Amino acid sequence: MTTTTRYEPYVGDALADDAEFIAGGTDLVTLMRGGLRRPTAVVDLKAGDLSVGVTTTEDGWRIGAGTTLAMIEEHAELIAGAPVLSQAAAQAATRQIRNRATIAGNLLQRSRCSYFRDEDIPCWLKGGTSCPARSGLHEHLAVVDQGPCITTQPSDAASALVALGATVTYDDSGSSTTVLVDELLAAPSDDDRRLHRLPHGAVIQHLDVPRPNGPSVYLKAMDRAAWQFALVGIAAVRHDDGVRLVASGVAATPYCLVVATEALDGVWTPDRIEAAARAATTGFEPGDRSRYKLPLVQALVRRALDDLA
Ligand SMILES: Cc1cc2nc3c(=O)[nH]c(=O)nc-3n(C[C@H](O)[C@H](O)[C@H](O)COP(=O)(O)OP(=O)(O)OC[C@H]3O[C@@H](n4cnc5c(N)ncnc54)[C@H](O)[C@@H]3O)c2cc1C
Repeated sequence: MTTTTRYEPYVGDALADDAEFIAGGTDLVTLMRGGLRRPTAVVDLKAGDLSVGVTTTEDGWRIGAGTTLAMIEEHAELIAGAPVLSQAAAQAATRQIRNRATIAGNLLQRSRCSYFRDEDIPCWLKGGTSCPARSGLHEHLAVVDQGPCITTQPSDAASALVALGATVTYDDSGSSTTVLVDELLAAPSDDDRRLHRLPHGAVIQHLDVPRPNGPSVYLKAMDRAAWQFALVGIAAVRHDDGVRLVASGVAATPYCLVVATEALDGVWTPDRIEAAARAATTGFEPGDRSRYKLPLVQALVRRALDDLA
């Protein structure tokens, strides 16, 4: 039986191994309904003092962990100053889900691989010994940096936050820790089969997003117009020291397209943009069914760089 309790600061100290926090519930409830999580207790963060809303800081914005994707999508200053983030939020899921889904929950959501989501398939990510997707239905899965599992990171906002250089601050047993979003999110390993490295019982308090001094954009390819995870997404942010390009839908983490950035090398001519787009998929190793993602990455990089030029 699952009990629900209200979040009190530092309750994490006492969070049992088989307990879970819940915020908007759009991922956790789905996992519980699917028989993939059976927590004995659920601690409701929204009933506690979880911070909600976007505030302006000296060098950017602070986003409370309980801020919904819809609030980020509609925030006028973010739309003007960091459109990559508001666009990534706006293109996630559906309006109904974005009204509930929080930014912290979005970063911590579990894999969307259909094998992982099937209770009856003991895939590697659920503690099994092998990844059935590799020789099976892998058209939505990773095409680069593949480990023992070929899941992708499902969050659109994650790529935008990595491209912006955002940090996450979490509370763990009363002490506060700040890490880059890029460090919080990680590929699953034998020791930790999650897509992030938040300590068990820690509660994300807020994110800090530095204000970029150049334009930015998030482009997403889906196989239908709404309610769909990214086949490929590209977050592009122009900074003083160059452009940061981060891809969704290609790896278990937001994937930095460093080779493309190097090929552009700050020269915004059509030839160099074309060279950067072609270089974007260097080192990618798609499966038979996911090969189509390579021209998609190149096309979105080309469009994103054209937008920012
Ligand atoms: C049909 C559908 C389509 C979707 N499409 C997309 C999409 O296209 N792009 C996309 O990015 N996402 C998509 N999503 C995912 C959705 O955005 C996430 O489910 C949502 O953001 C999770 O937020 P939540 O607040 O509901 O999290 P919850 O379900 O409440 O929690 C998720 C996890 O985060 C943990 N958690 C939540 N908040 C905190 C906190 N402050 N501190 C510590 N732990 C915390 C919970 O313990 C749980 O493990 C889709 C979801 C659905 C159902």
